[in-house]
Amino acid sequence: MKLYFQSHSILKGRQAFTDMNARYETCYTVQCFILFFLIVCFSVFPACAYARVFKAEIVPDEVTQGGVFIIRVTDLKTEKLLTASLAEKSFQFTGCGEGCFLAIGAVDINTKPGIYDVGLKVEEKKIALKLTVKDTIFPTQKLTLPDEKVFLSEDNLKRVERENLTLKSIFQQVSERLWEGDFVMPLENEISTVFGVKRIINREKISVHKGLDIRGKEGEKIRASNSGKVVFAGELFFGGNTLILDHGQGIYTLYMHLSDFKVNNEEVVSKGEVIGSVGSTGRATGPHLHFGVKVMDISVSPLSLIELKLLTESI
Ligand SMILES: [Zn+2]
Repeated sequence: MKLYFQSHSILKGRQAFTDMNARYETCYTVQCFILFFLIVCFSVFPACAYARVFKAEIVPDEVTQGGVFIIRVTDLKTEKLLTASLAEKSFQFTGCGEGCFLAIGAVDINTKPGIYDVGLKVEEKKIALKLTVKDTIFPTQKLTLPDEKVFLSEDNLKRVERENLTLKSIFQQVSERLWEGDFVMPLENEISTVFGVKRIINREKISVHKGLDIRGKEGEKIRASNSGKVVFAGELFFGGNTLILDHGQGIYTLYMHLSDFKVNNEEVVSKGEVIGSVGSTGRATGPHLHFGVKVMDISVSPLSLIELKLLTESI
């Protein structure tokens, strides 16, 4: 459009008189072009209808099974009635500057690879953002542990069921945002077992590893991955001494097998603050940190949350 008007003014400069008919035809052509563009735009891409109101994107728009992503909405006047959902889960929005709102979304590890619609609703307007879930290969690992930690007695089974109910009730709470910027590694050591590994324990029991194991020496300092509130500081059958931080918006980080705690339940902690020490309590073969992440009660890959570097740029 801009180029068109420039060439028109050059043409005008060359001519000694103003040709009213030519000018009228030019304007008519431009109007027709705009009208044609709008008809095509609104009929082929309904989202264009809202393009003047706001912009929306998913970053990254391709994730692994068990991965996380950002839904970012910009040029929006109000957060009022802004919701995003995928597979019956809703993700909470927070401000990221003037007219900017973002939510952290998650994909369950059992989600089939394919292209999905993330539904975005602003007041009564609905659009769908495309998200690709990649086929992800998770390695298999064989593990030998004491039989009583694998094949549970009736009492231990009941204990685990009680603990699972407690954890479930924690992860269903969605509180105000406390996290700020990137999530960071709680312990800067080598990773021994990644998220999603299929474990065959004592040749029989199969379980999926829903966290990241980081090597560590007994007593080594563990730091909060982001700012949050301690919502659990106690002993679990599998996790041993466990800390859970609530970062708000349905995002939780879990720290297991600790030798001790440096914080108390209900305490608000800052990103990087020492919260406990590496140990081997619970079902562990040796000292290490099991680091887990939950987003809206979905277990996700901790590395995929840490790799969301755009969080810093957005806030
Ligand atoms: Zn682990």
